[in-house]
Amino acid sequence: MISLLERARDVAERFAGPNAEAVDRDARFPSEAFDALKNAELLSAHVPAKLGGPGATILELAGMCEALARRCGSTGMIFAMHQIQVACLVRHGQGSEFFESFLRQGAKAQRLIASVTTEAGVGGSTRTSIAPVERLANGNCRLRKDGSVVSYGEAADDLLITARRGADSPASDQAMVFVPRADCQMERTLTWDTLGMRGTCSLGYIVTAEFPEARIVPAPFADISAHTMLPFAHVLWGATWLGIASDAVDRARAFIRDVARQTPGVTPPAALRLAEVSGTLQLMRLQVQAMATELDGLDPSAESGRAVLSSIAFALRMNNLKVTSSQLVVDIVTKALRICGTAGYRNDSRFSVGRHLRDAHSAALMIANDRILNSSAPLHLVSKEI
Ligand SMILES: Cc1cc2nc3c(=O)[nH]c(=O)nc-3n(C[C@H](O)[C@H](O)[C@H](O)COP(=O)(O)OP(=O)(O)OC[C@H]3O[C@@H](n4cnc5c(N)ncnc54)[C@H](O)[C@@H]3O)c2cc1C
Repeated sequence: MISLLERARDVAERFAGPNAEAVDRDARFPSEAFDALKNAELLSAHVPAKLGGPGATILELAGMCEALARRCGSTGMIFAMHQIQVACLVRHGQGSEFFESFLRQGAKAQRLIASVTTEAGVGGSTRTSIAPVERLANGNCRLRKDGSVVSYGEAADDLLITARRGADSPASDQAMVFVPRADCQMERTLTWDTLGMRGTCSLGYIVTAEFPEARIVPAPFADISAHTMLPFAHVLWGATWLGIASDAVDRARAFIRDVARQTPGVTPPAALRLAEVSGTLQLMRLQVQAMATELDGLDPSAESGRAVLSSIAFALRMNNLKVTSSQLVVDIVTKALRICGTAGYRNDSRFSVGRHLRDAHSAALMIANDRILNSSAPLHLVSKEI
């Protein structure tokens, strides 16, 4: 039986890589790669066996994100964002008849889930919402949210939307709402003509939906965010950036070998920089893998697991992972560019790392690093360890 990682590598080689240039140039959804991921039944990779999925570990998901991002950063990032949404439902929807049945069907149907978290007016403050869930006289709920950055909103089958739990709730008392895209109105407010990560198609929309109460994920969003959304995001984003960095180093290595072939017996001077950057890449890989392994070892249904997931030290470690891996990816790709020189700077060369560098610069913005550091800063005053 072919492993999940081998299936992801196959999709990366045959579909993500060959279309990466067009996806980037045209800022279009990587549909070839996602059709192939659906055919390979990888969208349901994290759905547990008892609900009909293969129950991939977080370390396995990270490996798949890395493999895809090595060939196309946008494909890796979309896959990561989808798996984060699946994890929120797997971990916080169990016990709900609606969500268990959705996951069971979703495992077969390979539905793609997008996230409407960022909201005009609050930016990347994910723990703050303006739009409320309103209760209607017919027993249903209604939501109208100005989602300013919604990746692959038009390719998604379903949306997970954060909102204030009710009209009287404070901005931090949030709920997560599941809505099939077919049941939403999505009015475009912003385009997505960006420096990098162009294939994520992260346009802005005013999303309006009416839905039954059972579509609200039962757990408070505060728990979903701390125990699942944030740690999964930091690990899987880190793994995606690791894929981008790894491919840039592969290109730098190929360049150095090319130079070496022209002067047999002489190690090219820039090989020194290759040796140096490979150490930084190793550091990045070890951090992503260590945090994925730690997260895999924490059972959110056990009190001991929940205690660690809620701890200050764990929050700091996860924040550190996001901030450092988002910096390392830019550092590593920049070093790969210097090694390749103009061959790396050109867009028409096999050593080009231009797309890698543009994609890498999104990392520090995906929840602004300063915002994260400012949330970590006071925690260091009370934390005894990290
Ligand atoms: C490729 C990509 C895909 C994305 N996909 C999605 C998606 O699918 N769904 C979704 O909901 N969102 C998505 N986002 C949004 C993302 O996660 C962030 O929420 C968003 O990029 C933040 O927007 P901002 O930089 O405009 O706002 P802000 O976070 O408000 O930052 C603006 C500026 O203010 C500074 N700042 C803000 N708060 C602080 C603070 N407390 N301390 C110090 N400085 C601060 C920041 O450093 C920055 O300089 C995506 C973003 C990217 C880049």
